[in-house]
Amino acid sequence: FFFVQCCFVIMLVMQTNFTVGQFQVMLFINNEFVESVTKKTFVTSNPANGKKLADVAEGDKDDVNLAVEAAKKAFKRSSEWRNMDQSARARLMHKLADLIDRDSDIIANVESLDNGKPFKMAKLDVYFVQCCSLLCCYVRKEPIGVCGQIIPWNYPALMVVFKLAPILATGCVSILKPAEQTPLSALYIASLVKEAGIPAGVVNVITGYGPTAGAAIASHPDIRKVAFTGSTEVGKLIMEAAAKSNLKKVSLELGGKSPLVIFDDVNLDEVVPLAQDAIFTNSGQICCGGSRTFVQERIYDEFVKRTVENAKKRKVGCPFKEDTVQGPQVDQDTFDKILKYIDYGKEDGAKLEAGGKRWGNEGFYIEPTVFSNVTDDMRIAQDEIFGPVQSILKFKTIDEVIERANNTTYGLAAGVFTNDINKALTFANAVEAGSVWVNCYNATNVCSPFGGYKQSGIGRELGEEGINLYLETKAVSIKLPAKN
Ligand code: NAD
Repeated sequence: FFFVQCCFVIMLVMQTNFTVGQFQVMLFINNEFVESVTKKTFVTSNPANGKKLADVAEGDKDDVNLAVEAAKKAFKRSSEWRNMDQSARARLMHKLADLIDRDSDIIANVESLDNGKPFKMAKLDVYFVQCCSLLCCYVRKEPIGVCGQIIPWNYPALMVVFKLAPILATGCVSILKPAEQTPLSALYIASLVKEAGIPAGVVNVITGYGPTAGAAIASHPDIRKVAFTGSTEVGKLIMEAAAKSNLKKVSLELGGKSPLVIFDDVNLDEVVPLAQDAIFTNSGQICCGGSRTFVQERIYDEFVKRTVENAKKRKVGCPFKEDTVQGPQVDQDTFDKILKYIDYGKEDGAKLEAGGKRWGNEGFYIEPTVFSNVTDDMRIAQDEIFGPVQSILKFKTIDEVIERANNTTYGLAAGVFTNDINKALTFANAVEAGSVWVNCYNATNVCSPFGGYKQSGIGRELGEEGINLYLETKAVSIKLPAKN
């Protein structure tokens, strides 16, 4: 059955105007799939073999304008969406969640084809919907209105859900742009938005490139807020465009170079695989990945030895195979960048312990790669590589490791493994990071705010703080009559 289902999805994706239910590879504006104004398209490919999956409509400024008009209409005071009470919105959200649940295999198939992530991991990404309600009397929380949402390719469906959940919960409206590398799952979920009965114009999806479609969103005068997830470099452009256009509110979820600190009192059998998953999850294409593994000197050599054995055991391969834990990187550019950083590691004097080259002879696969003897000044310890490359650094004391952990422009996440609660809490309180995990890693939870210190971002998604990003606060003061 699974094989038949995969073939079905592959056949569908190969067609240009591929349709399953209402899903088509076109722009999604006002609850309709439409061609772009220019009728131009771009190709999205399968990273497992580099071959074309589909021609996707290439949105640009005129399409963003159309989507903004639809969103503005949907947000008019008299509109169905504005007059819907919270419980009715909650019902629609639940309906959409049910549809995502119903079609989760299809979405995960599309995701594996478009992004390369192993199918079973793609399925986990699809379950991340939450409903929230917040409103009160004298201090009113009101929806901001028309919001732009620009997302990356590493967790395409998960990012759509992270972004649309607060839109639907607060009653805002969205112009969402998926990454050009992975536009398909956002379009599929858009088709479910319509099927769920969410009014036209509430959710609009503009597929296209960053400097055109993305920039048009960031600089649009009628968009009141932009939520961006992606690189720090582009995050700065978004903020600049937002400031120059209409001072729209900005929230940014950006890159990281997160430290994972391992003290010498831990059980290596447990910690070695966890520390490796911390960076190798999603083929290393994870913003909060534990990309600097700091290991206390007494256990350093043994840790490196076991880490290398573990790396060699990891199953790389076809995303649809049951035992695959690592698929291909998303595209040629990412693949080339990672190999360049592996060269930098060697040039800068780190010791290549495992991997280090292409895996197989087609697609964008890279071997799980481990470097030891990494020092803070090396490029592999400074820059976000966004691939399956683990850099292991040695430390002696807690004060030293706190200072080194914080010595980066990023501050997205951090982890600490120890059986000593004092060390764990001292580190957790001192490290400059938006999420800190103790004896676990990448343990993201819909109720915990997620975001970064320093150049890893502005604002927090998820939890109550994530909802607040989409609300304006109004204080209503009432003058009482004077006493007789
Ligand atoms: P990217 O910044 O290149 O692109 C992200 C999105 O921005 C894409 O949709 C792209 O088309 C768009 N874009 C590009 N240029 C633009 C411009 N000038 N104006 C407007 N939009 C533009 O990032 P990426 O390579 O797709 O994703 C990887 C990055 O995302 C990594 O740095 C990773 O750490 C980060 N990320 C962060 C989080 C987080 O929650 N902090 C989550 C996932 C990924």
